[in-house]
Amino acid sequence: MHPSHAPFVVLKFGGTSVSSVANWRNIRDVLKQRLAEGVRPVVVHSALSGITDRLEGLLGAALAGEPGPALAQIEERHAKLAAELGIELPPGVRRQLAELGQIAAGVALVKEVSDRVRARVMAAGELMATDLGVAWLATQGLDVEWVDARTVLFAEERKGASEKAGILSATCDFAPDAAMQAKFSTPGRVYLSQGFIASDAEGNTVLLGRGGSDTSGAYFAAKLQAQRLEIWTDVPGMFSANPKGVPNARLLKQLHYDEAQEIATSGAKVLHPRCILPVKQYRIPLYVYATQTPALEGTVITATPADADAAQVKAIAIKKGITLVSMESPGMWHQVGFLADVFQVFKQHGLSVDLVSTSETNVTVSLDPAANTLDDAALEALQASLGSLCRAEVIGPCAALSLVGRNIRGILHDLGEAFALFEEQRVYLVSQAANDLNFTFVIDEEQGDRLVAQLHELLIRPTANDRVLGPTWEQLYAPAGAARARDAPWW
Ligand code: ASP
Ligand code: MG
Repeated sequence: MHPSHAPFVVLKFGGTSVSSVANWRNIRDVLKQRLAEGVRPVVVHSALSGITDRLEGLLGAALAGEPGPALAQIEERHAKLAAELGIELPPGVRRQLAELGQIAAGVALVKEVSDRVRARVMAAGELMATDLGVAWLATQGLDVEWVDARTVLFAEERKGASEKAGILSATCDFAPDAAMQAKFSTPGRVYLSQGFIASDAEGNTVLLGRGGSDTSGAYFAAKLQAQRLEIWTDVPGMFSANPKGVPNARLLKQLHYDEAQEIATSGAKVLHPRCILPVKQYRIPLYVYATQTPALEGTVITATPADADAAQVKAIAIKKGITLVSMESPGMWHQVGFLADVFQVFKQHGLSVDLVSTSETNVTVSLDPAANTLDDAALEALQASLGSLCRAEVIGPCAALSLVGRNIRGILHDLGEAFALFEEQRVYLVSQAANDLNFTFVIDEEQGDRLVAQLHELLIRPTANDRVLGPTWEQLYAPAGAARARDAPWW
């Protein structure tokens, strides 16, 4: 049993990790192992997989006046897992379902959903799943305490963020929290809480954005000054490409925080990009594991990975659904304030610009669908406003294809062959990140997957005893590897 001053280890489990009995057994075993190692395990987990979507669906159904079937499906899903786990549906789950029923009835009546109501409804997924988790782990001989994440994670003021973002995509303060550390101090006890949710200054429920449970895990780790953060998901780590399209993608055994952040931002779904900053700030190592195969060593993310200074492409990432805006104006050369004027227009339209490239007569920018809500009307309005400054053309759908790795500038000379692959492609925009972590090409979306596979073949070449590039997906999961790769839901 651990003493009360033992180091904390935060373990975050994702939706698929908490949706089957087999995975719950693995979770139980890992927790027992951590206790035996003498650390204080703190668990943060997601809603059952697909439930957050269903809760959004419930709101849609309520708006349409018929929430009944959607609610019944949500109940069924939890009842089914409870039955498989051999436990009663916990009272907390029943309470949440009753409350959801009331809220949905109200929505059906007023035909309106406020952001606050949306946050409250979507939070129910994590609240119900953790009720189930605590109830089952208690039957397995563990001392577990359920913690409401809204009593420990608090949204911070975000300058410039809209009220909506403050409710549905909040960020939290993550400074070391002595009171929280003291609260989680009973020897031998596992504390278990929800991902995705927090509270604001008035005590209202807020969300951390879709996929936000990783970020919750990182906040818990930072506040508790944990010895490590473990992210348990359905793949054992970050790979050199999406194994779904590139079966010989390799496990990245070690990464620097900045590389992991860059791969996450460039399209990989294994980690939410926001979860890196809190652990990077306090140099808390982040380990990625797959819940269904707990013995596999996954990716380790630290400030001091092996071969940290070597220049090497470590991943080929792709982000689809990119829209480009190409702005042409013969008069812009040496003109003062042209960029300021066009960027002002994007700001007025509430659009966040991702990549930028400029030439004497053209400025092209990319708009990332993850950061913008784009529809035809929004783009037409933008084009109309830009019309007085330049000739604006909207190009899409495009894909942003990124070569990611530290010191990428140092290997430009090795990329010659890779550049040749783009010969027949239209490359709309090339950008070399100022942080020297990526080189990005924007091309037609339909060319994306093929180019990723070709670039991977060319650039990801493990050496003997490579300390960074690990086994391929197929080697890890042979012989079922190929089928597994096809089903991997993570890029
Ligand atoms: N359940 C939430 C979602 O599906 C948060 C998460 O799982 O990370 O977005
Ligand atoms: Mg996730």
